[in-house]
Amino acid sequence: MPAISKILIANRGEIALRVLRACKELGIASVAVHSTADADAMHVRLADESVCIGPPSSRDSYLNIHQIVAACEITGADAVHPGYGFLSENSKFADILEAHGITFIGPTADHIRLMGDKITAKETAKSLGIPVVPGSDGEVKPENALEIAKGIGFPVLIKATAGGGGRGMKLAMNEGEVEEAVAAARQEAAAAFGNDAVYMEKYLGKPRHIEIQVFGDGEGNAIHLGERDCSLQRRHQKVWEEANSPALDNEQRMKIGEICADAMRKLKYRGAGTIEFLYENGEFYFIEMNTRLQVEHPVTEAITGIDLVYEQIRVASGAGLSVTQDEVVFRGHAIECRINAEDPRTFTPSPGTITHYHAPGGLGVRVDSGVYAGYKIPPYYDSLIGKLIVHGRTREECMMRLRRVLDEFVIDGVKTTLPLFQDLVENPDIKSGDYDIHWLEHYLADGAK
Ligand code: ADP
Repeated sequence: MPAISKILIANRGEIALRVLRACKELGIASVAVHSTADADAMHVRLADESVCIGPPSSRDSYLNIHQIVAACEITGADAVHPGYGFLSENSKFADILEAHGITFIGPTADHIRLMGDKITAKETAKSLGIPVVPGSDGEVKPENALEIAKGIGFPVLIKATAGGGGRGMKLAMNEGEVEEAVAAARQEAAAAFGNDAVYMEKYLGKPRHIEIQVFGDGEGNAIHLGERDCSLQRRHQKVWEEANSPALDNEQRMKIGEICADAMRKLKYRGAGTIEFLYENGEFYFIEMNTRLQVEHPVTEAITGIDLVYEQIRVASGAGLSVTQDEVVFRGHAIECRINAEDPRTFTPSPGTITHYHAPGGLGVRVDSGVYAGYKIPPYYDSLIGKLIVHGRTREECMMRLRRVLDEFVIDGVKTTLPLFQDLVENPDIKSGDYDIHWLEHYLADGAK
C-alpha cells in the first residue's frame, strides 16, 4: 500500500496500541502522541516516534487539534488515525487535516456531519431504506409536542438532536408527562451540547441493541461484516459485546446486513462505520450511525478473520477493500468483556498502580490492553484498561473458554470489573442469551446474583 507512509495515532490506551500493531504489520511508520500523564504508556514506548502534545487534561492534549497538526508537521506524518472517542467524529478535525494535505483515516467530513446530527442522520437513514424508530418528522417544539406524542402513541422518548451518551433523553409515559419531559430534555441538551433541539420517538420497552458493521471504499463499493449484540449495558455504556447475536438467525443477519451495505453504497461511504439498531419482536429500528472504529470491533475480527484497522488504512490510502461480500465468512462465536479499572459493584473509578499483571492465553484468546505490572493508571481518562476477547466454534464453547480465561486473568493493585464477568458467565439468562438492554441494570439493582 503506497499512499500512506507514516501514521500519527491521535489517541491513547488500548486503541492506540491496536492501531500501532496494524502499522507495524503493514510496515508503516508510526507516531504516538501523548499527554504528560501518559509518557510511560505502552503505545508511546512501542511507536517509532512520539511527541508530547500537552498536559493531562484531554482538552489540552488529545483534543488539541493545533498540537496534533503541529505533531504531524514535525514528524512528517502523512496520515492520522483517530481511534475512537476524542477527535474521531470531529468533522472540523477532518477538514483541518485535509486542508494540511494530511489523510484522515476515516470518512469524509461531510459524512461525519451528516451522521453527527441525529435528526439528519435519521432522515438520511430512512431515505436510504434503513428501518427507523417511528417518531416525529424532525424537531419537536414545546407547542406541538403533545399532539405529536399522541400521534406516535405512548410511551414516547424525547431525545436531543445533538445527543450522545444518553444525555438529553427523557421518557413521557402519558399525556400528562409530555410538557415536563420536553422542557427537561431541552434544558439538559442545551447544557450538555449548547443546542436545545429535541425530537421524539416511540419508546421501545424491551429491545436488544444490535449493530451492523459496515465498510465502504468511498467509490460506491460497500460490504457488511455482520452484527454485534451489545445489549448488556450500564448507563448506556456497553459492558459485554458478542457476535453473532443470540437473537438472530442467518437469514435475518444477511437481510439487515445487506440493507445497511446497500445504504452505504448509495452514500459512497468511506471507511468503517457502525449502524446501531434497537431490535424488538423481529424488527430493527435505527438509532444512530457511528462513523468510526468501535471499541467492540474485535468480536467482528474474531468471527470474520478480517483486520478492520488494516481495511481502514487500505481504504484511506485509496487501495480499496481487500474482501468482497462473497468472501466474508462468519465462523464461530466471539465475546468481548470490557475491563475497567472500577469497583465491580459501585463502578467508581479505581486509578492507581497495577502491582501484578498476568494476561490469560490459549486458543481463541485475545487481550487488547496497554497496561503492565508497575503501570500507573492515570485518573484523567476513561477507566477502560483492556478488552478480553474470546472466540469459540459455538457460543457454548466460547462461554466455557471465557470462564477459564477469567479465572486466569490477574490484575492486582486496582479494582477491576473482572469479578462482574465471573458472575455473568455463570448466570442462566446470560448462558441462554436471554437478555435485553435493561437486563444488566436490573441485575445490578437486585444486588447482583
Ligand atoms: P446516545 O447517542 O445519547 O447514546 P442513542 O440514540 O444511541 O443516544 O440511544 C442511547 C440508548 O438509549 C440506546 O442504546 C437505548 O438504550 C436507549 N434508547 C434510545 N432510543 C430509544 C427508544 N426509541 N426506545 C427505547 N430506548 C431507546
